[in-house]
Amino acid sequence: MAEFALIDRLARHVPTSGPGVRLSLGDDAALLDPPAGQELVACTDTMNVGVHFLDDSDPRSLGHKVLAVNLSDLAAMGARPCWALLNLSLPRADEAWLDAFAQGFGDLARQFQVCLVGGDTCSGAFSLGVTLLGTVPPGQALRRDGARVGDRVFVSGTLGDAALALRKRLAGGKVDARLGEALDRPRPQVALGAGLRPLATACIDLSDGLLADLGHVVCASGVGARLSLDRLPASSALRCLPEHERRSLQLGGGEDYGLCFTAAPEREGEIQALAASLNVTVTRIGSIEAGDAIRCFLEDGSEFHPGDAGWEHFSQDAS
Ligand code: ADP
Ligand code: MG
Repeated sequence: MAEFALIDRLARHVPTSGPGVRLSLGDDAALLDPPAGQELVACTDTMNVGVHFLDDSDPRSLGHKVLAVNLSDLAAMGARPCWALLNLSLPRADEAWLDAFAQGFGDLARQFQVCLVGGDTCSGAFSLGVTLLGTVPPGQALRRDGARVGDRVFVSGTLGDAALALRKRLAGGKVDARLGEALDRPRPQVALGAGLRPLATACIDLSDGLLADLGHVVCASGVGARLSLDRLPASSALRCLPEHERRSLQLGGGEDYGLCFTAAPEREGEIQALAASLNVTVTRIGSIEAGDAIRCFLEDGSEFHPGDAGWEHFSQDAS
């Protein structure tokens, strides 16, 4: 398949025009017209075979996921996603693969009113990358550096499901549908992020595991945190596991793509009302304290020392 045929096929399944798109695919660059008075928010994320996905991964899920992880970054900023660029490096040009990939990408793009406005295609090592642009009212983006002593710490959804699915899949075991969805089709919390703009003091999306990601928040904010381990939300699949396994997945398992955020205690009612209106669960799991570390406590008040930190690129076997 020639490069132009491939781009044509993509555009069959993915919206390429919409608000603010003056010129989309087909020229040397796209021309975009950001809404007046909004700040532009930009993020990019790459997925490489052998690191982030397996060679035989379902292409539809890959199309979903490479956009979803970027939507999740914008969600964590409280931004509205608008325009995407797609970098495809493919070892072979396979029409069936591309159609399924484009459908997965296109379905999610339509759901979040995102247009594909450009990208790059080349043959090479199997790698998928998206650059996503969005908007936020000036000065209102949610950042990592706003947590204050006394704030509460919250997470959306449940923790550790994607990591459990990955572990089971790599072990060759059966992965039930709900758990597989958590890993393959994460649902970025864009509406929650936008709704949290006036409520949260800091926010991050959960890509590398709770301890690692909350660690970024406490580090950027110059504070510490305490977590109540008995409050960490768990799906029924996680609740079936022995306690130490469940805990290590909840604290260290990556790729859940929920939001972890902090807010003043008096905001909790509004936060729960927002979550209910969006049909997502939000759980208070701890609070921000003075210091520079995350401390974990058991129900009986004793401190728990997790041996297993979040999954980090280049530092562990997964690099
Ligand atoms: P150039 O050689 O000028 O860089 P390309 O041939 O790479 O142009 O791309 C032609 C057009 O197709 C450009 O508008 C580019 O944005 C678009 N395009 C190329 N690959 C992709 C892709 N994977 N997804 C979306 N648009 C793409
Ligand atoms: Mg090019």
